[in-house]
Amino acid sequence: MRSRFLIVGLPVLLGVLAAGIFCYFLFNIETNEALQQPAVIAALISIIFLLVLVSFLSALGARRIFALLDRETLLMRRRLETLERRITIDEVQTKVMHRVNDLHETFFVSRDLNVVLNQAVSAIKSILEVKTILMQLYSDEENRFFMRIEEGGEDIELGNELITEVIHHGKSTMVNNLDSYDRYRPLTADGYRSLIVAPLNRIQPGGSRKSIGLIAALTSERRDFTSYELDLLSTFSSQAAVLIENARLYKRVENLAIHDGLTNLFNYRHFQEVLDRDIRKAQKSGFPLSLVIIDIDDFKKYNDTFGHPEGDEVLRNVAEILLDNTRGKDFVARYGGEEFVVVLPETSRSGAMTVAQTIRQKVESFPFGSQNSAHPPVRLSITAGLAVFPDDANSAKDLIVTADEALYQGKRTGKNQVISAA
Ligand code: GH3
Ligand code: MG
Ligand code: MG
Repeated sequence: MRSRFLIVGLPVLLGVLAAGIFCYFLFNIETNEALQQPAVIAALISIIFLLVLVSFLSALGARRIFALLDRETLLMRRRLETLERRITIDEVQTKVMHRVNDLHETFFVSRDLNVVLNQAVSAIKSILEVKTILMQLYSDEENRFFMRIEEGGEDIELGNELITEVIHHGKSTMVNNLDSYDRYRPLTADGYRSLIVAPLNRIQPGGSRKSIGLIAALTSERRDFTSYELDLLSTFSSQAAVLIENARLYKRVENLAIHDGLTNLFNYRHFQEVLDRDIRKAQKSGFPLSLVIIDIDDFKKYNDTFGHPEGDEVLRNVAEILLDNTRGKDFVARYGGEEFVVVLPETSRSGAMTVAQTIRQKVESFPFGSQNSAHPPVRLSITAGLAVFPDDANSAKDLIVTADEALYQGKRTGKNQVISAA
């Protein structure tokens, strides 16, 4: 601003000086003889002329300088804006990186699919600053979505076309004016105006892409999503996809580790953990805990007669009978071979005896081998041993030994019966 005053001030000053000299000359010519000398007049006229000329030229220069200054200011402003934009972009990218990092930490701490999914949803909400998020996981084998998380909305229906685009073609999509398209009518009917959606893409060993789901962000007010935001969503989604897939794999491995492959019941290892845990609970609560060990009678003969695959089918049938005749808080496992265990927390001896007798009767009346086999149904039976904590034993190990002894007493004394340790 000061430089502008100086630039404007110079021609004005020169002009005023020239005018001053001219006025002085005009008002004093009659009284001052020196001013009447032709040489003085010529000198004064020359000075005035020179001053006016320099003033005129400096005014012209000032205009050009002003123009240059304006251009510089404009350029500076633009550079500043670009810089500000870059800083904003850097901030958002840093935010995305932090969120991806948080997601990695969550996965390593909890390894829980639900926790990872919920954190991914809240991360997208904060990155895109939207209220409504839909995340769906897709199963290739079953050709359907098997898991859905919604925040800030209910029963959001994206429509088949969009799902095909995102899941089957792996494309991200951004629609800022949903109401302009017929295909998004269900969404506009629910009050949504803009949408941005990205697939949860996983890179497979061969390098090809596979969508394991999608993340959609929706707004009920018109929002001008940018391609930069679409990139952000896609970047975050591909990172989240890796962790979601890992959490799923981890869950599957964890499940395999505690389940028996043939019957899908829990296995011996998990039974021991659960029995220890439930005995600690029983100690605290003071309620009795019952343990039933079950063994199929003469199962070797069945295997020898009908073959191992049919024997396997019997094991699966018995597993089902056990699950069908126990409560949710009871625990059923395959102890090994043709032996099973049922842990009945908060259950007295008489209550456990009723459950065991029901199971025995159900097995006794079950037509084994009736499906997929040429021979008529075969009748089988089980023998069970029952022991109660803390009445019959005061540790998990002793409880198993006591129930086992009762079971073998049942075997020795005729089979197809339930024997209580006391
Ligand atoms: P008991 O009435 O005294 O219990 O006689 P059992 O024949 O049932 O008992 P034994 O211990 O002599 O034989 C158990 C049989 O269980 C032998 C084995 O072939 C069978 N078995 C163990 N595990 C499996 C399995 O996973 N599948 C099949 N098909 N058979 C199994
Ligand atoms: Mg046995
Ligand atoms: Mg047996």
